[in-house]
Amino acid sequence: MSAEPNSSANRYEGVIQSLHQLHEKYKDCREGALATYIPELSHADPNWFGIALADVNGHVLEFGDSQIEFTIQSVSKPFIYGVALDALGRDEVLRLIGVEPSGDAFNSIEMQKGERPYNAMINPGAIVATSLIPGKTASEKVEHALHTLSEAAGRQLRIDENTYRSESETGHRNRAIGYFLRNLNLLDQNVDEVLEAYFRQCSVLVTARDLAMMGATLANMGTNPLTGRPVLGLETVRDVLSVMFTCGMYDFAGEWAFRVGMPAKSGVSGGLTAVVNRQFGIGTFSPLLDPMGNSVRGVRFCRDLAEAHGLHAFNFTNVGSRFIEATLGL
Ligand code: GLU
Repeated sequence: MSAEPNSSANRYEGVIQSLHQLHEKYKDCREGALATYIPELSHADPNWFGIALADVNGHVLEFGDSQIEFTIQSVSKPFIYGVALDALGRDEVLRLIGVEPSGDAFNSIEMQKGERPYNAMINPGAIVATSLIPGKTASEKVEHALHTLSEAAGRQLRIDENTYRSESETGHRNRAIGYFLRNLNLLDQNVDEVLEAYFRQCSVLVTARDLAMMGATLANMGTNPLTGRPVLGLETVRDVLSVMFTCGMYDFAGEWAFRVGMPAKSGVSGGLTAVVNRQFGIGTFSPLLDPMGNSVRGVRFCRDLAEAHGLHAFNFTNVGSRFIEATLGL
């Protein structure tokens, strides 16, 4: 295991200790199973466990396998939803994609009142959001998506062609969702082109450190703390965080909000991004998933960190809203 705090290590001693302890606590946990429905994901090493925290000033703390690359999968969804909101505005996007938790699996083919996807954190809504990315062709949309994800991470990201191919060859259920959306007039474009862009957006390679920085970009009102460049608009960030809070953790979203209390999004490759608003982003990676599709270690780590430092959005001490000052004495 490696502890790689950056140069401001001294100021962060208490937090480093906490992250170190929690990494130690869960590094030998073997509960959960690798995702197999995208064949390429089953090749992950179950031992991988990386955690990172990035604050709104761009300081990063990271432990374990925080620099191992894996495909972003559904953690792309809040950011692509953000792209759609920035491009079309809230009213138009709301007409096409709801903001209600579905209570169903991420790949469920059900629609809210039979009319529109429940939300953009699960596949039907995410596929509509991908169709709303500016660009006529799949490659224009992919370029736009990759640019936004890279700007949020603060470095140039790339696509893992193997995982893309693996999902494209086996993604029949997502194709079914795509054609159903087309039938409901929620997609007005070539379904295969939209799915091509969706599969590629899910196959962007990131690390736990990237996910922490992407979370920090949301925490920092849409501006990447490292580059200082705006990535998503202010109102968009508010909408994205709201939907992450209520719908970001599959069928565990309610219990996550109850126990952990942070906007978050997880993906089936084992990544998780959580946001303590105006303070910092958390990124975790561990590919062993619980039956709902969330990373076992990622969920436990965030739950314990939130408990230890009062990070729940509605914690009665409200320490979460001034974590940096409270913890670091800044
Ligand atoms: N690419 C995956 C799919 O659409 C993403 C699923 C997820 O991470 O929730 O099936």
